Amino acid sequence: MDKDLPQRMTPEEFRHWGRRVVDWIADYWASVEEFPVCSRNAPGEVRAQLPPAPPQQGEDFDDFLRDVERIILPGITHWQSPNFFAFFPASVSGPSVLGELLSAGLGIQGMLWATSPACTELETHVLDWMADMIGLPHRFKSSGPGGGVIQDSASSATLCALLAARERAEGMNCRQSGISLPLVAYASREAHSSVEKAVAIAGLGGGRLRLVEVDERLAMRPRALAEAVHRDREAGLHPFFVCATVGTTSSLAVDPVEEVGRVCAAEGLWLHVDAAMAGVAALCPEHEHLRQGLDCADSYCVNPHKWMLTNFDCDCFYVADRAPLVGALTVLPEYLRNAPTESGQVIDYRDWQIPLGRRFRALKLWFVIRYFGVEGLQSLIRKHIALAGEFAQWVAAHPDFELAAPPSLNLVCFRHGDGEEFNRWLLQQVNASGRSYLSHAVLDGKFALRLCIGQANTERSHVEGVWELLKDLAQESCP
Ligand SMILES: *Cc1c(COP(=O)(O)O)cnc(C)c1O
Repeated sequence: MDKDLPQRMTPEEFRHWGRRVVDWIADYWASVEEFPVCSRNAPGEVRAQLPPAPPQQGEDFDDFLRDVERIILPGITHWQSPNFFAFFPASVSGPSVLGELLSAGLGIQGMLWATSPACTELETHVLDWMADMIGLPHRFKSSGPGGGVIQDSASSATLCALLAARERAEGMNCRQSGISLPLVAYASREAHSSVEKAVAIAGLGGGRLRLVEVDERLAMRPRALAEAVHRDREAGLHPFFVCATVGTTSSLAVDPVEEVGRVCAAEGLWLHVDAAMAGVAALCPEHEHLRQGLDCADSYCVNPHKWMLTNFDCDCFYVADRAPLVGALTVLPEYLRNAPTESGQVIDYRDWQIPLGRRFRALKLWFVIRYFGVEGLQSLIRKHIALAGEFAQWVAAHPDFELAAPPSLNLVCFRHGDGEEFNRWLLQQVNASGRSYLSHAVLDGKFALRLCIGQANTERSHVEGVWELLKDLAQESCP
């Protein structure tokens, strides 16, 4: 064995470099506001600076950090900047990142209860906490036939919900006979693209997703849903799955879950509720409308990795009955057989998700909830919603700007009155300035700017900053 070739980083070396990295992150967070929010890199700029071949001999850790600053940082869009208002927040926090670090250090695979009991039990427990925190019905808690699991993303949650729904609709009979039903799924026109993707992955076949009409608030029309279901039944198809959205991606519109649920109950359809971002606001009792109708839902998901200070990935996915989910996803090869599984007394989360392996994600969520407490998290949500409300008022009161949709929670969709081309230009100018980052949506066929507030370090001054910037740019352009 060649003595000079490192075969491990010793615990002492790890201690040294680990401190350096934690210091680096703390310095980054302290100064993140100073970077241009949106990366200015041109395509290929990062790769052009990387050596074509990997090193044959190990290199100094010191050099890695230097290269992170030199090569990587310019290619970073600073999602943790207080001036990041695009898409949705990806807010992280100290306790979350430290929980993630512990998870990486423990380096376990939580596929079965037996492969690390704490990984499964902490996850079940923290998801029960979360269910209570956001006021989900009891049926989603682990004490009954239902329960929660952490998925990597809302997209995976929606796919798992769809597969469970198919299992319930088709069951053993179809599987044994090899005959599948002509299944049809439904979501509103404003639903997230992950529904379409889930339908494609599940192999339902083309034209098996109906995009239901929305009302003037961009929420699903339950009557249009019922009509579509009837039409499909008459055509000999088999409706089975509806995805309602609580907080659509474009405008945070909230589908009327209660009415949609009534249609689902009457027609025997699986109701999945996608509350990826907005669901977190149900932490605050004043937003209880976000949990209306959930008694009728078969599954539900919400992303702490968006608006609850938990770094990606962490989606909380709940089912009211775990049997069809497990039925759809379980395969038990000989090498995974073990006594606890066979006892039926434990949860094996590999049966609740697509992959076999799984990370210990509950640690970071547990740390976040314990560090901030429910009240700390509530106060942050309230602060963001209040700031968005103020911004919406400034927009509404300005002669040249208008709201493009009713402001909802932490999101404001708005536009300048001078038409699409001008608004595109404005967006491009704001983002090129480096001082702020907004995104856009098309609502009712019309282009709109989109400001979403969700970083823990965003203060009123930052929101004022982007508003001043918008007004200045609009002013400059028309002297
Ligand atoms: C962000 C978002 C998604 C996608 O979330 P991922 O966790 O990135 O898959 C899905 N649905 C809604 C409503 C969203 O806001």
